[in-house]
Order: sequence, then C-alpha cells, then structure tokens
Amino acid sequence: MLLADRLQKTFDDIHAVRSISLQLPPGRIMGLVGASGSGKSTLLSVLAGLLDADGGTVTLNGKRVPGPSEVLVAGHNDIRLVHQEYQLMPNISLRENIAYAVRFYEKEYQRFRVDELVKLCRLEAVQDHLPRQASGGEKQRTAIARAIAEKPAVLLLDEPFSHLDLLNRTLIRDLLFDLVRQEQTACLFVTHDATDALSIADEVGILQMGHLIQTGSPVAVYRRPVTAYAARMTGPANIIRAKRLSSLELPASHHPDACFCLRPEQIHLSETGVPATVTAVFFKGSHFEVEVDVNRYVRLRLLTTRAELKEGTTVHLHIGEEAVWWLK
Ligand code: ADP
Ligand code: MG
Repeated sequence: MLLADRLQKTFDDIHAVRSISLQLPPGRIMGLVGASGSGKSTLLSVLAGLLDADGGTVTLNGKRVPGPSEVLVAGHNDIRLVHQEYQLMPNISLRENIAYAVRFYEKEYQRFRVDELVKLCRLEAVQDHLPRQASGGEKQRTAIARAIAEKPAVLLLDEPFSHLDLLNRTLIRDLLFDLVRQEQTACLFVTHDATDALSIADEVGILQMGHLIQTGSPVAVYRRPVTAYAARMTGPANIIRAKRLSSLELPASHHPDACFCLRPEQIHLSETGVPATVTAVFFKGSHFEVEVDVNRYVRLRLLTTRAELKEGTTVHLHIGEEAVWWLK
C-alpha cells in the first residue's frame, strides 16, 4: 500500500502541492485529473522519491520513502515513474532500452524477461527500432515496459494518454489492466483529460492548484462534482447560476445565489417542455452536440442523435429534477 500523508511542495512562492493525502492499495488504478499547473507532475515526483517534499511523508507498506537528498541514488526500486516525455535513450533500440532496466540480472533471465515485456507491451514488430523511428504509442509502451521490468509495487504515469491516438490509448489501457491483474501492481496516473481516467480508474481524484479537492469512484465524481471546476474537469457540464429556493419559504432576498451542474446528456428533447432555440450544432460522430438558448441568460449544451436540428430550430427541453446537482 502506497500512502501519502499531508504532502507539501513549494517552489519559492508557488505552492505546487498543498497537503495532499492519498492511499493506493495493490491492484488498484487511480487517476488524478487536473488542469495544467495543478501540481500533477510535482506530486508524482515526490511520490517516486525523485523530489524532496517540504512537508508530509510517503510510505510504501509502512516504510518511509526517502527523498533524493537522503539517498545516494534518487528514486525507489519499488516505485517507478513513467515521465510524460518517455525519456528513452535515443541511440539504442526499444528492446535495448527495456533490457537496460534488467542489465544486472543473468543473461538468460534478461532475455526471458525482455521477451515477456515486449509481448505484454505489444512491441514485437518494432522492438529493434530506435526511439526516433517509433510512434508516440510505441515509445510510451517502451517506457512502461522499462518501468515495470523489475515488477515494481507501484507504477506512476505522467499523462500516459496525452499524445496518443484512440487505438494507442486503448492499447495502454489494456496494458494497465493486464499489469494490475497479473502482478497486482498499483497504478496511479495523472491527466488533464478525464475521459481516460473515468473509464480506466477504480478511483478518481480532482487536483486544483495543488489541492486534492475530491476523490471517489468515477461515477460518483462525474455525477456529484463538488465544484464547477471538478464538474468541468470530469466532462462537459452546463454550469448555471441560480437562486436556490428553500422549502422554508424565505423571502427572495434570503435565497443565496448558487450554481448547479447539469450534464448535457441529462437534458432530453421532448414534445412539450421548456422551449429553447438552437444556436449551434456540432457533429460528434456518434451524436450531435447542440447549443440552445433558453432565454437571454441561459445557454445550454445537450446531446442528441437527431440529425435535423439547425440553427434557429425551436426545441422543447425536458430536464428531470434528479439531473440537477448543486455545487459548493
Ligand atoms: P502539472 O504537471 O499539473 O502541469 P506541475 O507539477 O508541473 O503541474 O507544476 C505545478 C506548479 O509548480 C506550476 O505552477 C509550476 O510552474 C510550478 N513548478 C513545477 N516545477 C517547478 C520547478 N522546478 N521550479 C519552480 N516552479 C515549478
Ligand atoms: Mg505535468
């Protein structure tokens, strides 16, 4: 079990990581989602023992993970970080990059393990290519193969999907699933795009300016985001400012302004309901994303498979009360 307890990291006056605690049991996949600059890479470096924390501790199975200033060689044998830019050695093949990680083992085991990793990471056809001859996905899989060569307990991945096409994202996803199933590896990845986090992770966290503001199952975080930021980081969201009427019938001036989140797929087109005017239609392949004006103040995005909608069409909206989620 990897534990982070009130981790802090400051660069001059920038609080990159502010009191982050988390736990990652073996065989689990956690995905942290945050905007650029929210502290994702800093957090991973601290967790991997590659950057000294200013406060807090990282422990793996009850033993403290030392920072780089406390050890001869920075890093931890059982916690491996796959950097965003892969950091492969440019002048040797993908296979040799992987083999480098097991160079201290017997020759026969080296060959066996590298063969195994090449197969697991689906690199058979390209293993003798140099990194510059490899695609982003192939480099990413090589970097992962190298990181897991010695079967670490924890695999940390920095934006593992960012530069990859759909096919390669699927390959990486399946690779992580295989790894977790076969080795009970604990995986923590960070991303600015929640699509992958939601479909892969057992648990999702939202990072905002160094704070871990929410954690939970992908479904829980998607449906019940704590703030507008958490809502937007986890997918398309209509954020609407409104007066929240209480059942206590307070005078109007006592009703606090608040925001609620309405996911586009929760708005249904119906025969009757709230009239709205279509202002834009975006083709998304499997569906259309439609922008509508309900009135001068409220513009909503919704999803539909109806192909006949055009700018200016009047539609009627049905929104179930359960679709409305009030934000903090
Ligand atoms: P993310 O990976 O989420 O984009 P980072 O962890 O890279 O975010 O950075 C978080 C914040 O810390 C940013 O404001 C960044 O500018 C700052 N930062 C990161 N590394 C350093 C560094 N070595 N020196 C100074 N500031 C840094
Ligand atoms: Mg980063």
